[in-house]
Amino acid sequence: MLDLSNERTAYDRDHFFHPSTHMGTHARGESPTRVITGGEGVRITDSDGNTHVDAFAGLYCVNAGYGRTEIAEAIGKQAHDLAYYHSYVGHGTDASIELAKMIVDRAPDTMSRVYFGLSGSDANETNIKLIWFYNNARGRPEKKKIISRWRGYHGSGVMTGSLTGLHLFHNAFDLPRAPILHTLAPYYFRREDRSMSEEQFSQHCADALEAMILEEGPETVAAFIGEPLLGTGGIVPPPAGYWPKIQAVLDKYDILLVADEVVTGFGRTGSMFGSEHYGIKPDLITIAKGLTSAYAPLSGSIVSKRMWEGLVEGVDELGAFGHGWTYSAHPICAAAGVANLKLIDDLDLIANVREVGAHFRRALHDALAGHAHVGEVRGEGMIAAVEFVEDKDDRKFFEPGKKIGPQIAAALFERGVIGRAMPEGDILGFAPPFCLTKDDADLIVARTREAVAHVLG
Ligand code: PMP
Repeated sequence: MLDLSNERTAYDRDHFFHPSTHMGTHARGESPTRVITGGEGVRITDSDGNTHVDAFAGLYCVNAGYGRTEIAEAIGKQAHDLAYYHSYVGHGTDASIELAKMIVDRAPDTMSRVYFGLSGSDANETNIKLIWFYNNARGRPEKKKIISRWRGYHGSGVMTGSLTGLHLFHNAFDLPRAPILHTLAPYYFRREDRSMSEEQFSQHCADALEAMILEEGPETVAAFIGEPLLGTGGIVPPPAGYWPKIQAVLDKYDILLVADEVVTGFGRTGSMFGSEHYGIKPDLITIAKGLTSAYAPLSGSIVSKRMWEGLVEGVDELGAFGHGWTYSAHPICAAAGVANLKLIDDLDLIANVREVGAHFRRALHDALAGHAHVGEVRGEGMIAAVEFVEDKDDRKFFEPGKKIGPQIAAALFERGVIGRAMPEGDILGFAPPFCLTKDDADLIVARTREAVAHVLG
């Protein structure tokens, strides 16, 4: 291997095209190259030997924490025994079959089978095709539109980037594409009519959805997709009554529901799935990140029993399901998934999400809710956010150009803690690994308080 110690920054700027990075400033050396070399528990180490508490678990995915020997060994053993075989035309490996069973055993009992992919984006791409196949199989080819929500995040492909409801992922790419539509975000803090209660606002969201369905024609609307708890769009738990009211509208017009659990799946909310946590009854569940705790790339679409029956019925007429990836159910990734899910059970990490997560959110609230520029501290399980405002009483937001969120995240980084400035609004997000201790939770809160004071006084 090349010795990179002196050259890594130059090689990086000249050769590495980074995702979600400003190309100009990075290539010109105006933004830092950060090289991460190791990780243990909730901490990562960089190439300068600095250690940081990773309070966002990578991209809210290293749920089991860093340095888990059990998962690393399972990956090594699988690579040694059988690095690859495909899963087309009925092939499988012990790892992929065992993992499929483990996933369905953990999913809500209305779910039936899992289709494997590699990323959250490709899993949602699969979902779109499953929905279209299903309606073609059922003899209603005009029922194809999919309603997503502003501020939803469902991936960055052409169709999944269209599902995403954030401008950064649309602008400059000619997205969103038909037949994707967007309805209101369930964002109570940012509601227009501040006199509304949470229940009233949830009803308002359900009414807006119903109005959109009626305007489009219910016979043309196939599905609705949402994260149980809005993630990248701001880390926003749903307002009271939201999911039952949405579900009632969807049931009324025979519209499928996709719960995108890429972030919430496998414990982040304190329940195994966000669907259980909020009483959602999905037809499809998207999973990725926490499935392997990001030790290997793996995603899945979990299909309900009801939808499975409809798909199977259609197969005789439409032929085999002509959709597959070379790496679907890759055995090395599946072995990582099996070891990860076992570890989450063996260490009872979801109980820790509930206990330490509640401690962390309470401490964050106590430390920051009273600050003149903190509009809201919110969260669930082991995920939380602090939203900053210019004026608390008038709920006036800062000019985006001031970049208050990124400044606070940078000040926090300087203090050895990694949080995430969410892409729209001044929102600092946290989603630590599930193995967080109360001491480390207190450390994150103390450093956050200092970072906020540094930027906002
Ligand atoms: N859905 C949700 C809810 C996500 O948070 C993400 C990623 N942040 C995705 C889908 C896309 O996953 P990936 O980046 O693995 O394609």
